[in-house]
Amino acid sequence: MSMPGTERRADPARPQRGRNRQLVLDALRGAGRPLGAYELLRQLRSEGLRSPLQVYRALDRLIEEGSVHKIESVSAYAVCTGAECGSGGPVVFAICTRCGQAAEARDPGLGQLLGRLARRQGFRLEASTVELSGLCEACAQG
Ligand SMILES: [Zn+2]
Ligand SMILES: [Zn+2]
Repeated sequence: MSMPGTERRADPARPQRGRNRQLVLDALRGAGRPLGAYELLRQLRSEGLRSPLQVYRALDRLIEEGSVHKIESVSAYAVCTGAECGSGGPVVFAICTRCGQAAEARDPGLGQLLGRLARRQGFRLEASTVELSGLCEACAQG
């Protein structure tokens, strides 16, 4: 028999972020630049993360929920800084080759341009991330 009002129900609309996910997110926020999975593992070993799989699993979930982006060209992960990320064109990362910082930007016009390029080749575009390589403002002046 169930007793109404006494059972604790998990609210499926507001999933609790797992501990590993929170640790990984905090580490990325604290770093201020993209980090690789093994760099994350090194930093979080003292917090009890032992295997790359734990880190990758947490990263996958964070990417899924839109908190983190993967930057393929440097095999690293960055916290999403776009206020309205998820709408308004592909993510563009300007990655500094000297200090490793990655600035995130978006422009709906770029999405239209990439869509046009893809169509011209008969390519069905599903997702796009643009990665620029160069020097950030501070490094370019130094
Ligand atoms: Zn973003
Ligand atoms: Zn730089």
